[in-house]
Amino acid sequence: MKIHEYQGRELLDAAGVPVPAGAMIESVEAAEEAYKRITREAGTSLAVVKAQVHAGGRGKAGFVKLVRSAAEAAEAARFMLSNRMVSAQTGAEGLEVRKLLIAAGVDIEKEFYLAITTDRATRRNVLIASAEGGVEIEQVAHANPDAIVKTPIHPLIGLQPYQAREVAFKLGFTGKQVGQAANIMLALSKLYAEKDCSLAEINPLVLTPAREGFVDGQVLAIDAKFNFDDNALFRHRDIAAMFDPAEENPQELRAAKFDLNYIAMEGNIGCLVNGAGLAMSTMDIIKHEGGEPANFLDVGGSATEEAVTEGFRIILADENVKGVLVNIFGGIMRCDIIAQAIANAAKEVGFSVPLVVRLEGTNVQAGRKILEDAQGELTTMQPASDLGDAAKKVCAAVA
Ligand code: GDP
Ligand code: MG
Repeated sequence: MKIHEYQGRELLDAAGVPVPAGAMIESVEAAEEAYKRITREAGTSLAVVKAQVHAGGRGKAGFVKLVRSAAEAAEAARFMLSNRMVSAQTGAEGLEVRKLLIAAGVDIEKEFYLAITTDRATRRNVLIASAEGGVEIEQVAHANPDAIVKTPIHPLIGLQPYQAREVAFKLGFTGKQVGQAANIMLALSKLYAEKDCSLAEINPLVLTPAREGFVDGQVLAIDAKFNFDDNALFRHRDIAAMFDPAEENPQELRAAKFDLNYIAMEGNIGCLVNGAGLAMSTMDIIKHEGGEPANFLDVGGSATEEAVTEGFRIILADENVKGVLVNIFGGIMRCDIIAQAIANAAKEVGFSVPLVVRLEGTNVQAGRKILEDAQGELTTMQPASDLGDAAKKVCAAVA
């Protein structure tokens, strides 16, 4: 599960990571008010208005704007709330922006990158840091891999203070900032473990300029990206409550209500399959035959007739779908349940597009019988003998 930056900042703040004050707002009027309050409290006229969407690259897309007056804040808010954000991470159609963050702006001396994620190779969580912050880490990894410092975190004792200080030195921090940066790393790793994160990223972590005779430079987090392990959400009510359904694909949300693993894709062949492995091979073989899958849909082993019927409703409601491929190898999942769901969907919605069905395994005879009985409503159906035959037939049907 993903959350917004403003929510991530709340988590960082609660964990003791210094973050400039900010507020989430949803209207132009609220932007003006928030600007006035935040800048007054922070004692600066600089603020930053940032789109809150589950995608990065906002800065380059023009959806992170520095403002110096309430009028500028309102103008930035109006722009962001009335234009879709298209960034390197969104696809060409972009994302609607419904929420904004207004935060106290800071002067920046230098930007750094800091993150924790799980490293499959070492089977540990890893602290990733770089003095080349503010740009995407993939870019740094590609252009200048030596600029990235990776520190494995011990699964039992966690990140150690000496490790954090070592990283801070490697990033080039000196004096008081070494301790500040190390404390942020330690707080981030504690948060990562406590909340069952799969990614905790601060990009950029910044050093503010020292002001002569006044204050030293401060190390602050000015962006926050968190992803969480869905399977651990049951023990984090606070995190689960941060879920924002508006950021999710509506079809995927609908499928999730029935415990279906559904992912919308760009092609025109709707797929209904049991088992993630079979679902992936089905997509592969569709591609091999020159087609493009419209979705990934694994109904799993224990889906009810109602859930599978909902799966068909979701596929048939997708106007990109020009053909449907059902590929079932019944084990725990029974072929008669799938067949009944096909018959239900045929009656309720109707298959106006070609339907290719490959059924094998548990209760296959009963399943075939149900399909035969429903033939009157399944005029576009063709049976297939195996996976290759099914992919050929459905690709030919939509070509
Ligand atoms: P992202 O592009 O979606 O990752 O959004 P960020 O929050 O990382 O902001 C992008 C860039 O905007 C940062 O790398 C900074 O260079 C700049 N920026 C963001 N907040 C401030 C701020 O308070 N002051 C200054 N001077 N620049 C900022
Ligand atoms: Mg960023």
